[in-house]
Amino acid sequence: MPRRTKILATLGPATDVDGVLSSILKAGANVVRINFSHGSEGEHLARVNASRDWAKKNDTYVGVLMDLQGPKIRIAAFKNGVKVKLSIGDRFILDAELDENSGDQNSVGIAYKRLPTDVKPGNVLLIDDGKVVLEVISIQGKKIATKVLQAGILSDNKGINLRGGGLSANALTEKDKKDILIAAKAKADYVALSFPVSADDVRETKKLLKEAGSNAGVIAKIERAEALDDEVIKGIIVESAGIMVARGDLGVEIGDPQLPAQQKRLIQLARANDRIVITATQMLESMIDSPIPTRAEVFDVANAVLDGTDAVMLSAETAAGNFPVNAVKTMNEVCLEAEKNPIAKVSHHRLHESFKFVDETIAMSSMYAANHINAKVVATLTQTGKTSLWMSRISSNISIFAISYNIETLQKVTLYRGVYPCSIEKHSSSEWDKVNEKVIETLTKREVVTKGDLVVLTKGMHKDKSGGTNMMKILCVGDSNY
Ligand code: PGA
Ligand code: MN
Repeated sequence: MPRRTKILATLGPATDVDGVLSSILKAGANVVRINFSHGSEGEHLARVNASRDWAKKNDTYVGVLMDLQGPKIRIAAFKNGVKVKLSIGDRFILDAELDENSGDQNSVGIAYKRLPTDVKPGNVLLIDDGKVVLEVISIQGKKIATKVLQAGILSDNKGINLRGGGLSANALTEKDKKDILIAAKAKADYVALSFPVSADDVRETKKLLKEAGSNAGVIAKIERAEALDDEVIKGIIVESAGIMVARGDLGVEIGDPQLPAQQKRLIQLARANDRIVITATQMLESMIDSPIPTRAEVFDVANAVLDGTDAVMLSAETAAGNFPVNAVKTMNEVCLEAEKNPIAKVSHHRLHESFKFVDETIAMSSMYAANHINAKVVATLTQTGKTSLWMSRISSNISIFAISYNIETLQKVTLYRGVYPCSIEKHSSSEWDKVNEKVIETLTKREVVTKGDLVVLTKGMHKDKSGGTNMMKILCVGDSNY
């Protein structure tokens, strides 16, 4: 059984080292993530090209997700890059007027100039993912006077989060708008939007992508407290191709104890709305410096699989860690084992609902048929990948082959749980029956099926147009008549 949960690996200096990128792809990374928070355009494009070249050489597909930095709110820098140690009870000022490199024991500048108007006394600010915690005492013009609630060390450009959310920064910064053009140039399959707080943020991103000539799907990173509101999250999900449970910033904003329940809720909501979902951040954090994970990390990855995530993500573990290949290998093994659990295979998806579309109905019926007749695989001829996405919202252990001549689709489905890309030459509608034969031939060659296996095949059969899945056929490998 091939692994169903997909692995998303962030590229960076560690994967630029000779042979590492090919090793992590070989070890099972399905999608690479380019992080616009670090690196130059040249580095981003080189990494995308190297990944695509590897895929081509190995006759497979690798998805590319490019992650916009967003309005990460940061403190400025300290004089001569020094580190400052803050103790509990200390007074410390965040000063929007202070020079960029003038921080000291008493105060530091802030890159986000609106911060003094976004906070009020009593608010809690978390610096560097909560390593230092400050309580706002008062605001005097552009200065925020705070008291240290949790001691720690401050250094240059660390992130600031507001507990409970409520910062008014726009989701798309000027840098993000420029990076969208780079993503279009790189033909990214997905673009991740950081810190969206509304469906409008997603809509604007889609509009900019379209104007830049990109078909990338937008992945909304859920990392702001206000995005968790029932109506807001529903709107964001429906407008996006998928979401990321961005546990780093989200955990800081809402507090880690709330994260596990939110992760489960977000995964369920995305799946119920036919969207994809990525679980991200610190999944194998200790492997940045260690060749093996902690047991808790193994449980974390496995639990995300059991929660139903499409993909699990590696950040610094692959981008800047000392054991990037081990990290991917570990994820691969943990996912495979977790997927053996019976709860990863049962689904009550849409059991009591009516279907809206013909292609959706075929997708759902095919999975029901495949499960009940014990088919080896489902093969879906698809132009957009939509049928395979519907199918993969059902938890099962049946492999779904998305068969397409459209390379963008083949690259996009790399992120769908249980879906595998499979290319086929373009055919005309008069060759419909030959297509069945071709599919069986291709799957046989890939050693996915052998004589006697049942294949549930779906496709669109229309007189003079392609697409629009409207039929299902059950084929037995080795029969003379397909
Ligand atoms: P980041 O997003 O790594 O870009 O901050 C993920 C997260 O916040 O979890
Ligand atoms: Mn984040």
